[in-house]
Amino acid sequence: MIILLGTRFITWGSERTATIWHCPNCEHDDRFVRKRGRRCVALFFLLPIIPLGRVENFTQCPNCGARYVDPDAA
Ligand SMILES: [Zn+2]
Repeated sequence: MIILLGTRFITWGSERTATIWHCPNCEHDDRFVRKRGRRCVALFFLLPIIPLGRVENFTQCPNCGARYVDPDAA
């Protein structure tokens, strides 16, 4: 039996930012989605089993999905 191991970036959170952000990628202005993410070793590239590194805070453009580092995150 072959077990495939890969890494996968898991994200969670759907809180909106309090201020309007500008997305340089798609020129969209909106309240971005505040998210947290962590890279994990994943079984079959789907099931996260071992967390790697630390939790990262970022905000995501709701229009195009581009991610940016959140300077206001604790
Ligand atoms: Zn965008």
